[in-house]
Amino acid sequence: MNNLLNIHSIFKSTEGEGVWVGTPQIFVRFQGCNIGCINCDSKETWDFEQGTYLTQDFVLKEIEKLSLGNTKRVAITGGDPLHPKHESAVIDLVDILKTKGFTVTIEAAGTRVVDKIFDKIDFINFDIKTPSTSVKFNHRPLLKLIEQYKGKSQIKSVIQDEKDFKMVCDLFDSIESSNKFEIPWVLTPCYEPKETNAIQRTQDILTWAQESSIPFRVILQQHKVIYGSDKTNV
Ligand code: SF4
Repeated sequence: MNNLLNIHSIFKSTEGEGVWVGTPQIFVRFQGCNIGCINCDSKETWDFEQGTYLTQDFVLKEIEKLSLGNTKRVAITGGDPLHPKHESAVIDLVDILKTKGFTVTIEAAGTRVVDKIFDKIDFINFDIKTPSTSVKFNHRPLLKLIEQYKGKSQIKSVIQDEKDFKMVCDLFDSIESSNKFEIPWVLTPCYEPKETNAIQRTQDILTWAQESSIPFRVILQQHKVIYGSDKTNV
């Protein structure tokens, strides 16, 4: 209960990706991540030493101020909010937000399933790391997610090229063949640094998805289309 939260920023914006795109929400961005995706668009959140340690009371007041009583959806993001260094602070934050009537979602890097958090929250955005991220994919967390949390999850995969697309197709086939797959799977076209739009890449991914007849959902990151790929906290 007395945990300090290592925070990068707290802000109100609109969900820009995935199946809840377009929904106003408050983002609580934790500072610190050691996963190291090479195409990460928030590298400023990596260093655990760069955050501001805030009390839970302070964080809650900020959320309530931004909420204006109407925006009742909070996304816990990062950085990696599921890193063990954040775990107990996140659990306490989720507890207090739930008692205040907020809907709470989490951005999960896909490397860990933390039951103590996943059991409490309302929705899980679960990343499947593709080859272009350079992060080695581990099946075990995904299988656990499907087993325990399929009713309140989406899978998201950043797609940079055909190699990424082939990887998610192969993975889908391996899961589908054991009849375990019932979760929306969103493909997010990657933006290169400084790229102003990803139209050609998105067209390619749409074509591959249509030809594959796997029920992926190709959804652009709306905030990048509107504000540009380098703008953060929007
Ligand atoms: S897990 Fe998220 S914050 Fe961490 S490196 Fe990957 S994209 Fe960036």
